[in-house]
Amino acid sequence: MYLADETWPELGSYFESESLAFVPLGSTEQHGPHLPEGTDHLIAEALAREAADRSGYLCTPTITIGVSPHHRQFHGTMWVDAPAFRDYVESLTRNLTYHGIDRVIYVNAHGGNVEHLREVGRRLRDAEEMYAIEWMWNESIPDLVEELFDVPGPHGGPKETAMIQHIAPKLVREDRLADARDGGLVDWDRETGRTHGARTFYDAIDNTANGVLGDQTDATAEKGEQLFEAASEQLVKLADWLASQEFAELMPEEHV
Ligand SMILES: [Zn+2]
Repeated sequence: MYLADETWPELGSYFESESLAFVPLGSTEQHGPHLPEGTDHLIAEALAREAADRSGYLCTPTITIGVSPHHRQFHGTMWVDAPAFRDYVESLTRNLTYHGIDRVIYVNAHGGNVEHLREVGRRLRDAEEMYAIEWMWNESIPDLVEELFDVPGPHGGPKETAMIQHIAPKLVREDRLADARDGGLVDWDRETGRTHGARTFYDAIDNTANGVLGDQTDATAEKGEQLFEAASEQLVKLADWLASQEFAELMPEEHV
């Protein structure tokens, strides 16, 4: 069920029996020479809507602009400052409680949003208004990501390329996959951008000239479909688990 396609009486029936919603979030930011700027929000929305279709739970409209100042050197990247993002997401999530939603899954596809969504979830839980958790698609299936790609790369790499090849193939510039690899940073590891234990970089461009990481040339739509299937399954299971919990059990423990 997709909130924006429903009428209010139809939604009323949903709120009578269910109290869970998926909220998809991504970014609009550079993803190298081969992927569209909408990559992250396209992935988040596709997964959230798939999980909603399979499970019958509600999916809200997508938040398409996130915390991406670290990609600003590349044309077209849009971002909001972290405090504005947190306040906006907190407000729209809290206001869902007015309709009876008391548990939310942030279906997230942008690493830069993670810590802020965790903070928002904490605020709402500490206030005992709502239980909202962050779910980052690739972290739900780490073994499969490792298995499918030689060099996954955290941004604009083969896993995101494969997902867009599956979800929105017309938006992938297939003739630029080798350029993406050759103009970026292929080997990203624990030592990258670190000096004596400190993370010394702030922006993507500090590590990669074209904005992306990993080897995009072994991405295929078939691998994207595998990722999509596996992540959708995880998301449906998470929703079923969350829906089955007692609200009180999801709230913070008392002080000792
Ligand atoms: Zn991305």
